[in-house]
Amino acid sequence: MIGVWRGWPDEQAKVIFCNVGQGDAVLIKKGTTQVLIDGGPGTKVMECLKKNMPPSDQAIELVVSTHPDADHLTGLISVLQEYRVHQIWVEDRVTKTKTFFRFRQILIEKKKSGSIITPPKLGDVFQIAPQMSLEVIFPFQPLENEAVFSADTTETQLLDITVQQQKQYGATNAGSIATKLTIGDVGFLFTGDLEAEQEIALINKRVLTRSNVLKAGHHGSKTSNLLPFLQEVQPETVVISVGKNNSYGHPQAQVLENFQKIGAHVHRTDKEGSIEVVSDGQNYWITSQQ
Ligand SMILES: [Zn+2]
Repeated sequence: MIGVWRGWPDEQAKVIFCNVGQGDAVLIKKGTTQVLIDGGPGTKVMECLKKNMPPSDQAIELVVSTHPDADHLTGLISVLQEYRVHQIWVEDRVTKTKTFFRFRQILIEKKKSGSIITPPKLGDVFQIAPQMSLEVIFPFQPLENEAVFSADTTETQLLDITVQQQKQYGATNAGSIATKLTIGDVGFLFTGDLEAEQEIALINKRVLTRSNVLKAGHHGSKTSNLLPFLQEVQPETVVISVGKNNSYGHPQAQVLENFQKIGAHVHRTDKEGSIEVVSDGQNYWITSQQ
């Protein structure tokens, strides 16, 4: 039935792990407010947004770009081109790829048209609805390198910044923006592609709390998802955002064993398609959107 959108406006809080293949894209929504964490490796994220947003709603309140690797960033280019975006959380970090330079160009345009672009840090909070908020737990400090997204910065200056940043911070995964979502009493944790070293840093910083649902770190790679980290978070449900037969061998056997050890139920986008979690703030229900 064209033009009939059952259940809209949608008053339920929902978290949709979009099936974007090997990558991440998570849509969080309540009413007419949407938050998108990453955009996956291509344009599949657009299908997910169209399916889960009413056509009359062309605005996304917050986009989080966890880190600039292509499997998280590429899809955000189409998203930023097609939707109005009020606020964007992104690190002041350069990556020498065509995709990043395109993304940077679009961010500069978005800034001109009124989008708020901020590098977030521990403790920053975005209120989605009453009793529903997204809180930053990593990075602990912003890089404070605003030149990265300034129109005045030349390509040569950018390349200089890249060299400095690589020396100082190492791999892009290590800088992933990590967030905690709270819907009433129900908690979710998203750590992007953070690795073991940062998982330990999160434990030591005492910013982890028990979360009902965890997005597996780095698509279920064994460079993340340490047992002590999982024991701290104690998720009942783990969602792995991963591509069918991916060349990395994600999720890795050792990680699946860790999930088993903590007694978590595992859902995978490569097997179930997009995974939707609905919550009323006390309980939550999981369905597949295949
Ligand atoms: Zn990734």
